[in-house]
Amino acid sequence: MQPAIEIRDLEKTYSDGKRALKGVSFDVPRGQIFGLLGPNGAGKSTLINILAGLVNKTGGTARIWGFDIDADRRNAKRAIGIVPQEILFDAFFTPFEALEIQAGLYAVPKAERRSMEILRALRLEDKAHAYARTLSGGMKRRLLIGKALVHNPPILILDEPTAGVDIELRQQLWSYVRQLHAAGTTVVLTTHYLEEAEQLCDRIAIINNGEVVANDETHALLASAQEKCLIVTVDRDLDSPPAGLPAEKVEMKGTRQLILTYNRSVLTAGELLQAISATGLGVVDVSTREADLEDIFLHLTQQRAA
Ligand code: ADP
Ligand code: MG
Repeated sequence: MQPAIEIRDLEKTYSDGKRALKGVSFDVPRGQIFGLLGPNGAGKSTLINILAGLVNKTGGTARIWGFDIDADRRNAKRAIGIVPQEILFDAFFTPFEALEIQAGLYAVPKAERRSMEILRALRLEDKAHAYARTLSGGMKRRLLIGKALVHNPPILILDEPTAGVDIELRQQLWSYVRQLHAAGTTVVLTTHYLEEAEQLCDRIAIINNGEVVANDETHALLASAQEKCLIVTVDRDLDSPPAGLPAEKVEMKGTRQLILTYNRSVLTAGELLQAISATGLGVVDVSTREADLEDIFLHLTQQRAA
């Protein structure tokens, strides 16, 4: 099956000389929730704005639902709905009017419009006929999602939809994203909240400085982490961590717990425990903590920053 989005050697150099994308390639498979992660300034919005037709690329190709964004711009555009990072808004229309106007721009016939249905799904039906300037920030964000959906695109792209949004609204947004996904929509999102990406995304690409530094299924990405953490409770109080353990980092929590970070390509948990026993300490309890996306993210993005 053809990917939902195919990006090949994508380049963007802005007119001031800033090289925001340095040959980015990846596919977004159909039917997934795909996370595009990266620190501020990595190039995420540039990439999304190229797909949206708001920024001109300076090299490479992109296909959306099989349609080349240059050769077949019209069809490519119809295949995606984009929720931009910035809230730009026409304050003089009501949410209902805003959706109807947007549907008009996409030439959706009146009989096929679903403005009220979309407002209901986004819990905005009470505000359907209120002026947009009376909406809260969260409501405006939901309305932007609604605008991206009027032409019923198979792909929805959300650029940092939850930046600066409170926890309750964030959860509402994600539950709506999950509903769309369950109904067959391919979802691409950028987010700073790594824990959310970890829970929500089937697949994750990490970009840093305009380059892809990771691209894998979320569970594989998590499994690939080399850093592991062993938490050991010992049988007596310690003033300081024992010297000479082969771990990369030894920290203490209270007087009896050691938190040991180690690289599993160098050492096993068994070897580490043996080394603790060899110092004369008895081990009372052991637990491990798997690396999370945040560890991996920091590792991949700091490495390249050096
Ligand atoms: P992200 O969304 O990942 O935070 P952006 O795509 O917004 O990153 O920005 C990538 C880089 O390109 C940044 O260094 C940013 O300052 C730069 N940039 C973004 N837009 C422009 C522009 N219009 N002109 C010049 N540089 C830009
Ligand atoms: Mg951005």
